[in-house]
Amino acid sequence: MGPKKKVARKRKPEEDSKGSEVEEEIGGEERDGMEEKGREKIDQKKGKDKYIGAHVSISGGIWKAVEECLAIGGRSFALFLGSQRSWKRPALSSTAAEKFQKACAESGFDPVHILPHGSYLMNCGSPKQDVFEKSQALLVDEMSRCSALGLCHFNLHPGSSLGSITSEQCQEKIAQAINYAHQQTSSVVTVLENMCGQGSTVGGQFSELRGIIDRVRDQSRVGVCLDTCHAFAAGYDLSAEGGVKSVLDEFDQVVGLSYLRALHLNDSKGKLGCHLDRHEDIGQGQIGFPAFRDIVNEPRLDNIPLILETPGRPGYEYTEQIELLYSLCVD
Ligand SMILES: [Zn+2]
Ligand SMILES: [Zn+2]
Repeated sequence: MGPKKKVARKRKPEEDSKGSEVEEEIGGEERDGMEEKGREKIDQKKGKDKYIGAHVSISGGIWKAVEECLAIGGRSFALFLGSQRSWKRPALSSTAAEKFQKACAESGFDPVHILPHGSYLMNCGSPKQDVFEKSQALLVDEMSRCSALGLCHFNLHPGSSLGSITSEQCQEKIAQAINYAHQQTSSVVTVLENMCGQGSTVGGQFSELRGIIDRVRDQSRVGVCLDTCHAFAAGYDLSAEGGVKSVLDEFDQVVGLSYLRALHLNDSKGKLGCHLDRHEDIGQGQIGFPAFRDIVNEPRLDNIPLILETPGRPGYEYTEQIELLYSLCVD
């Protein structure tokens, strides 16, 4: 963190990514609500119902994710369950699964605050039969791993029509894969992520998420993870005054808040409605600090994982971004 003090002021988007000046300003923002206590310790009571964390690495063993989450001061985390490059992965060893469960229990992580992220290879909406079948099999494999790890949620990108089928037909395929995976596994909830509406991806509009949910037989086993960058890029204006509230209201009307299982907290490099999936550090993009302040003070977002997937920059990595978000909590 830059040592120089600077009075916090309103950030304009064009001031973003200016290196050290940005860091100083972040310090300023942070001190703002902290009654001159310095920044050495965040009040543990502030944001006690908010489970802010980040997507952490599993390199060196899946249980390492727990250690990394603790190291960055997170209270929730996301992780991949294997390599992102191959359709077939070595089986999860029972030793690794036990180590993971032990680490979670010892560190006090509730499984509802852990959200595994699916492989990017998967396209459960693919019009190509071979890709659809491989995706469906991978979904079953991922959800079985969740069960072995004692986890209850699994987050995936819905899928893409590749432009050769309609959104509805794509939604139908996605639901078909989910229904199949529900038959093959028990209890794990499939959590659909909203997309930025790029190309032929499905799930950018809340109505498309609703369309998939409507086609899932066991609706107690389907939910949604709302990515703030994706929502903004899809045209949901979180940056407007009162934007967080109105976007959540709209989500409630179209999908239903009872389906909301998690948020991905990312600022957006791209502008409103740009349909580009370009994550930015919290407060440094087009969404901006005021929206994130509203998010961490929104009671409808209590007790669910709020997970960062931001690029990070020197002096403003996950640790500092999580710390900053907690400092924005009023109570
Ligand atoms: Zn994602
Ligand atoms: Zn993204």
